[in-house]
Amino acid sequence: MSFQTEESLWVQVLGRLEDMLEPQVCEHWFSHVSFNGFNGERMVLSVPNEFFLSWLQERYGEVLNHAIHEVFQKEVPVDFCIQPENNAKPGIRKDIAKPVKEISEENTERRNHRPPNGLRLNPNYTFENFVVGHGNEFAYAAAKAVSESPGRNYNPLFIYGMTGLGKTHLMQGIGHQLLRRDSSKKVMYVTSEEFTNELIMSISEGSQSRFREKYRKVDILLIDDIHFIAEKEATQIEFFHTFNELFDQHKQIVLLSDRSPKEIRGVESRLVSRFEWGLVTDIQPPDFETRVAILKSKTMQKGYEVEDAILEYIARSVTSNVRQLEGALTGVIALMKLRGNSKITLEQAEQVVRDIEDRSQISTITPESILRAVAESFDVRLVDLKGRCRKKQYVLPRQIGMYLCRLLIPSLSLSYIGELFGGKDHTTVLHSCERVEQELQKKGETYRMIESLLKKLKGE
Ligand code: ADP
Ligand code: MG
Repeated sequence: MSFQTEESLWVQVLGRLEDMLEPQVCEHWFSHVSFNGFNGERMVLSVPNEFFLSWLQERYGEVLNHAIHEVFQKEVPVDFCIQPENNAKPGIRKDIAKPVKEISEENTERRNHRPPNGLRLNPNYTFENFVVGHGNEFAYAAAKAVSESPGRNYNPLFIYGMTGLGKTHLMQGIGHQLLRRDSSKKVMYVTSEEFTNELIMSISEGSQSRFREKYRKVDILLIDDIHFIAEKEATQIEFFHTFNELFDQHKQIVLLSDRSPKEIRGVESRLVSRFEWGLVTDIQPPDFETRVAILKSKTMQKGYEVEDAILEYIARSVTSNVRQLEGALTGVIALMKLRGNSKITLEQAEQVVRDIEDRSQISTITPESILRAVAESFDVRLVDLKGRCRKKQYVLPRQIGMYLCRLLIPSLSLSYIGELFGGKDHTTVLHSCERVEQELQKKGETYRMIESLLKKLKGE
């Protein structure tokens, strides 16, 4: 990939940071961070000095990782190097030293205004910014209805669909709408992973009653990616009680998932049935016209002008995921910016889109998605695949899982892969991969299995 395209990915990360941070904070800190390229799978950034680096990591390290994760859809490790900016900006040290205090005040201020979840709703995820079209109109109507009379007709509202189709956007849209009407409403947005981590923490700290209080006192509970509570028993029990309590008080609950309630494995049936009590609706990829409309709306929001031919090209080439659609547009805009806002040709746009597509196709594959695909294909439970039981029916699926992790995510270490599949050491992982490779030579059952798994994982 060319440096220019790599840099456009960094510009996308900056775009995400702008969404998440106050403009002055973002400008102050991230204008001093420069992108130096990739070193294998690692992103290399340079900062002016050590002092700056430690502040940056302490305060914004997490946000930065989050932004990178959103753009790449996976963890990308970052290496920092020190590169004094002295020639370009004299007196930079003074520059940095002074506003640190201002920023910390700003920060406390913001913390006080934060909603109870401790996580701000993304200001861009409003209903106004949501383009309604084929594939999402029903989910949109349901979200709108819920925001107008929460806790009444559709409780819970359960929206499911593939990644990048606007589920989180719609969910936060409900939150914004409620807060706009009544800013005293307690809107809680949380991912089920965060819910789980917080629960674990509260158990270890003996502060479970505070945890309960927090979740059972809200006016609306928005839980993103609820499928992550699969196999997590304590979380399910806790959530079950939270659900009942809120439901009895006519408080609205909204849940998101990548699959329908029935398809979520490893969740207690009493919870699944509650997921279906209200309204279950799916969200489908947008059609061509909707994709063009989304691109036009995003271009306007960003304050740029992009030729229709380029927008249509993007809409034709990126079809199944709005996040990638947006990524391609940001890449194109980044190139325009790098060229000093001049027009770019269709061919240049095509190159950017192709590079981004290549990268994102690989990056949507995560260890978790491999585990899940293997478990489904062999019809074994995820816990067994990850477990230590040596029964014969788990051996081959584990070996194939390890092989796929090696093949598809080169950045994973052997020992990490071993951990994923029942605490194996790295030699076992190597051995398993060799076994699978031998099997592949025979072009038999294993070959066909892996072929279909690869198709599934690449979304073909
Ligand atoms: P999901 O939660 O389904 O994975 P998100 O809600 O995170 O997807 O959406 C991914 C990106 O696509 C977000 O930036 C969101 O604003 C954008 N997006 C998705 N659908 C639409 C839409 N219909 N109109 C405008 N933006 C959309
Ligand atoms: Mg989401």
